Amino acid sequence: MSFENLNLHPLIVKAIADSGYTEPTPIQAAAIPELLAGSDVMASAQTGSGKTAAFILPALQRLTEPSALKTRGPRILVLTPTRELALQVTAAADKYGKHMQRLRTVSILGGMPYPLQNKLLSQPIDILVATPGRLIDHIDRGRIDFSRLEMLVLDEADRMLDMGFIEDVEKIAAATPASRQTLLFSATLEGSIAKLAKRLLKTPKLIQIAEPRARQEHIEQRVHHVDDLAHKKRLLNHLLRDTEVNQAIVFIATKRDADSLADELHAQGHSASALHGDMGQRDRIRTLTRLRTGQLRVLVATDVAARGIDVLGITHVINYDLPKIAEDYVHRIGRTGRAGATGIAISFAGGKDTVQLRKIERFTGKSITAHVVAGFEPSRTRHAPKITYKSGSGSGGSVGNNYANDAPRRSAPSGNRVFKDDARPASRPYARDGVKTRSWSDGPERSTRSAAPSGRSGRPQAGRSTGSGRPSRFTS
Ligand code: ADP
Ligand code: MG
Repeated sequence: MSFENLNLHPLIVKAIADSGYTEPTPIQAAAIPELLAGSDVMASAQTGSGKTAAFILPALQRLTEPSALKTRGPRILVLTPTRELALQVTAAADKYGKHMQRLRTVSILGGMPYPLQNKLLSQPIDILVATPGRLIDHIDRGRIDFSRLEMLVLDEADRMLDMGFIEDVEKIAAATPASRQTLLFSATLEGSIAKLAKRLLKTPKLIQIAEPRARQEHIEQRVHHVDDLAHKKRLLNHLLRDTEVNQAIVFIATKRDADSLADELHAQGHSASALHGDMGQRDRIRTLTRLRTGQLRVLVATDVAARGIDVLGITHVINYDLPKIAEDYVHRIGRTGRAGATGIAISFAGGKDTVQLRKIERFTGKSITAHVVAGFEPSRTRHAPKITYKSGSGSGGSVGNNYANDAPRRSAPSGNRVFKDDARPASRPYARDGVKTRSWSDGPERSTRSAAPSGRSGRPQAGRSTGSGRPSRFTS
């Protein structure tokens, strides 16, 4: 499928080619033909899947034909929950419409002075991008003429509802001609979104895209439970010495910590540098170039690096600190497993991170498997039990040390899977797509998947009382 096949106007196709896009994304391929045919559409697809172009391109296509009416009001109206998003949509309209003549896009956002907006609204408009609250003000003052409106787009409708804009959205829709084409984009299409869609859309086509890559099935996700900062640091140092790590991004919460952790790693002999928003543009570019060319093995970064970095050599993403926003987790781990490769995402979670970890799992719809490295066991399990512990049965060793910490070479108890990482020659280079690698040899890593019930072969550790009656996911 190419953009040429979508029957878009040549001036639009030209602008798309200028942006360097070679083919439509799945949501674009599915939505654009329906929209060009005039159908209402309600669609959901992962963030970053190209929804903006999916609605802007058909909107621009309408504008290649003159309006049947001689009025001056907007022909396309896009509602977005936030100003930032509105500005992105405006920029996209300008980008894809740049070869079209006399295209006028106006954004009406909260926080902007009214006199300026009044002036913008008094001139002919093709595309109006607005946040609902401010637009309502102008509608109430009779400043907007919707008589020639052809298309209404609700972008990120779920967020608009979350932000309490539902009445505004309905009121705005009611002010537009019933003949309009209506589009609704949302992360979910259930519940109140479905009800809103029922009221505003006419026999909409339903498009739901769940790309395998968007579900990140090519990225193995692990969590390591950690006791404290010292534990994190020791574990990180150990993990980074694994020869399987070709290049890694270590995500950390603050700029200051990024600098100091990079320094510490450097002192431990790792090729490590920090990347964060306080660095000048030149420093950032230099660091990224070193990463891209393989001169740098470990990047310690804040969320500035969570999007956009596309380096094939990155085999591991390590969340040294969990992201505050669950969505950022998806962006972070997407830095590995690029271009068809597989990747490993490791998150460190302390006792206070349990709730956040759950949020992330809910967001991705996938549970993250707990891993333990021999010699780096957390002193206790904080994870909610997967295998429920029956209270009262705590004596007799039914709860307790079930990490196969010191017995990885012995045959694993039934159902317990021991990764024989230590069987790997420590010097084995991990070449990936031609990226030059170094080998790092340290002691063998032995990690044990913990979801399965395991045996009692391990030595009980200080601090972990057997039969304490505390719930554990490990019962036998
Ligand atoms: P969404 O609204 O689904 O979160 P966006 O529309 O903001 O996603 O697009 C995400 C990114 O993908 C943007 O940087 C955009 O320029 C880019 N993009 C959109 N369509 C394509 C395409 N067909 N090919 C390559 N990149 C694209
Ligand atoms: Mg979007």
